[in-house]
Amino acid sequence: MEITEEIFEFADEIGPEKVIHLYEPRTKMKAIVVVDNIAAGPAIGGVRMAPDVTTTEVRRLARAMTYKNVMAGLPHGGGKSGIIADPKTVNKEQVTRTFARGIKSLEEYIPGPDMGTDEASMAYIYDETSRAVGLPRELGGIPLDEMGATGYGVAECTEVAKEFINLDLNGARLTIEGFGNVGKPAARFLAEKGVILVGASDSKGTIYNSDGLNVEELIRIKETTGSVTNYKKGEVLKSTDLLTISTDIFVPAARPDVITEANSDVLDAKLVIEGANIPITENAEKMLHDRGILIVPDFVANAGGVITASVEYHGGTETAALERIKSTISRNTKEILEKVYSGKTYPRDTAISIAKQRVLRAMKYREWS
Ligand code: NAD
Repeated sequence: MEITEEIFEFADEIGPEKVIHLYEPRTKMKAIVVVDNIAAGPAIGGVRMAPDVTTTEVRRLARAMTYKNVMAGLPHGGGKSGIIADPKTVNKEQVTRTFARGIKSLEEYIPGPDMGTDEASMAYIYDETSRAVGLPRELGGIPLDEMGATGYGVAECTEVAKEFINLDLNGARLTIEGFGNVGKPAARFLAEKGVILVGASDSKGTIYNSDGLNVEELIRIKETTGSVTNYKKGEVLKSTDLLTISTDIFVPAARPDVITEANSDVLDAKLVIEGANIPITENAEKMLHDRGILIVPDFVANAGGVITASVEYHGGTETAALERIKSTISRNTKEILEKVYSGKTYPRDTAISIAKQRVLRAMKYREWS
């Protein structure tokens, strides 16, 4: 009863159209699936595997996918799912296959990878349901994490956003919260533009060096030892200390709600490019904007992964995906930031208003089925 009330409390003119809780009693697999809106086409959205994933988190992420997909001009609506399990301790193949059998008949939802799942997980889901994106190369997939699709988009977004605050990328300082599939390539592509990575964190801690960290060396250390804290030429701090490092560009690329009203005052940056989904609460974003920190919202900045997934689904190539990421994210960032500066509005409000209009226009062509 409580769950139902909570869901309908947030239902609006867009969705969510379906909220499904799955429980398989034999293996005790528990999962949440939210199909937010399918006006533009079947919903694409990641499968998150985490012990603490909640219905609220999945609902918010599903809406972010609706906006992200429509903003990127993809023929897809938005959805998301969460498997409540610790990816480090469970039998991932078994859990993922069980989840896949549970969503087999939910044809309007196409799963993709997210935190805690990967290309192999998508291969198992595809084997069970014949629907998944982010597949291994052997199954015709474009390896979006290997090519760093989202990090590439984050870097291209930064390239456009910097013009609005007169920031020279050559020598600009960068901090990255979460040195994973988004954070590592974001560091690499931004380094190619002259940006200097001064701090990076993961779940074990932060590595900091005001003179700069060697990005390729740090990636190698993270991949071979499991943590950035094993990098020798820097100071090791707590994970949360990353936020306090003075920087020009801050890229959150880990968990939701890392910056809230309670801690937003510690951030000392000029530009925030949201690599993660919903990393900053809406109120905190407004507080930061009022302090003169420019934020490009998640569903605009981090669309590189889903653009690649959509290109893969429709039979395109890696090169086509990269071209589309650059052109789409650059165009959207420019359009939104021009409106922000001319209308004195908040970036998220501006981006949501554009995305919402597009969803509502798509809905005019569709009957609910
Ligand atoms: P990932 O699992 O590859 O990397 C996450 C990183 O964050 C890891 O290095 C982990 O150690 C670190 N981390 C976890 N808890 C942390 C904490 N408390 N403090 C600092 N670091 C912490 O995940 P990913 O694919 O890089 O995704 C990161 C975020 O980006 C998620 O919000 C995801 O939804 C979003 N995202 C990912 C993609 C993609 O293409 N992979 C696309 C769009 C959005």
